[in-house]
Amino acid sequence: MDNNELWQSVLAQMQLYISKANFATWFQNTEVILREDEKIIISVPNAFSKEWLSNKYYKLILKTMHDKDNTIKELEFIIKPQSSKNLVVKKIIENEKINIDQLKFEEFKINKETNLNPRYLFENFVVGSFNELAHAASLAVSENPGYTYNPLFIYGGVGLGKTHLIQSIGNKINNDFKKKKVKYISSEKFVSNIVSAIRTKSMESFKASLSPIDILIVDDVQFFAGKNKSQEEFFHIFNSLYEKNKQIILSSDKPPNAIPELEERLRSRFEGGMIADINLPDYETRLVILKTKLQGKNLKLPEDILEYIASNVKKNIRELEGALNSLLIYYKINNSVPDLDNIKKLLKSFIFSPFSVTNYKKIIESVAKFYNLEEKNLFDPTRRKEIVKPRQIAMFLLRKELKYSFPAIARKFGGKDHTTVIYAYKKILQESEENSKLTDELNLIKQRVYSG
Ligand code: ADP
Ligand code: MG
Repeated sequence: MDNNELWQSVLAQMQLYISKANFATWFQNTEVILREDEKIIISVPNAFSKEWLSNKYYKLILKTMHDKDNTIKELEFIIKPQSSKNLVVKKIIENEKINIDQLKFEEFKINKETNLNPRYLFENFVVGSFNELAHAASLAVSENPGYTYNPLFIYGGVGLGKTHLIQSIGNKINNDFKKKKVKYISSEKFVSNIVSAIRTKSMESFKASLSPIDILIVDDVQFFAGKNKSQEEFFHIFNSLYEKNKQIILSSDKPPNAIPELEERLRSRFEGGMIADINLPDYETRLVILKTKLQGKNLKLPEDILEYIASNVKKNIRELEGALNSLLIYYKINNSVPDLDNIKKLLKSFIFSPFSVTNYKKIIESVAKFYNLEEKNLFDPTRRKEIVKPRQIAMFLLRKELKYSFPAIARKFGGKDHTTVIYAYKKILQESEENSKLTDELNLIKQRVYSG
């Protein structure tokens, strides 16, 4: 790849990570002008861009470049005012008929009343065996809110369509029942609202503001883990809506019984309605998703390319969309379909390969994160149940996924006797065969272990 091709493919990828408006703002008039050994020099039009790119996007750009060419280790931005050709970005912008004002407008299309993004609809949600139950339950709730399943709890790994699905419910209700007041809120936002209501002693008015709501949609409730005060307030909010038959819809990356540090009473509320999971889509469904996404794009990609993407990008639907977009952008810039070699390069960061992407660090990090622990907790010499089980799971995964020897694992865990590790391994292996909750947890952890 020459400098221009390299930058072109980096830009294509950048578009996947940042909004179009941001992309147009920060990457317009940028160019790779020089390569000095391991360093890439990028010209930018002004000091403002330079500062922004070096502070906000340095790591992302470097990682993307490094994925394409692992000899690249460093970036430098230099200012080069230009009126001139402005290669790639302009072309992308023209092709996409991006009008920045319009884009900004698009971004603000989020409904201010409901916080819903109008793009998330049942109509563009592909259903397959992996999400059938979640979809059916969501549809049922949207047809008869408050009275079918309450709460509705949807869980599944990252990028598998939870937000899309729960917002679809909101959008449909908003459309079909004009009088019902729908509110979508992320748990993060919810927690920060509760915290500030506590600080400003305005909890009553915060609660009062929620009381007219008929449909409350709270995304990513695993975020409540360990936040006791927020859980307590949420519990009361939940109850007061629930008692009035108001519909509550929740999503999480794990089932209620696997959310660590969740108060028992809240957990049992979460479990009190319908719980449905979203799994990974299979090959056929991935192909359908690609084709569906392509429909709106006014462009065709040959079947064999779609099949290549569907068979190689397996991690989740977000990545599938990302892979497709990066090929579309290539197509638009070059006016030709990339050949297989180029496709492989473009898709490198999307391709799921269990052998190349996991390692010791990733396993420890994923297990700790899943159980809301700090990594160092896993190594604490303690018999506390909240630590012992995650530690045994970490040991199990090191053995199973990385084929570490038992003594090697024992050394990692502070020189424990290796029979302790064997015991942990056997215990988790056996329990996972008997206990489907543990199997689910292991699967969710493995999804993380093998993701990006
Ligand atoms: P999650 O909330 O589970 O992390 P999202 O709902 O944000 O995932 O989905 C990630 C992306 O994949 C979104 O752009 C979404 O529109 C798309 N997506 C997910 N599931 C589907 C589906 N079943 N059909 C079509 N698009 C989907
Ligand atoms: Mg989400």
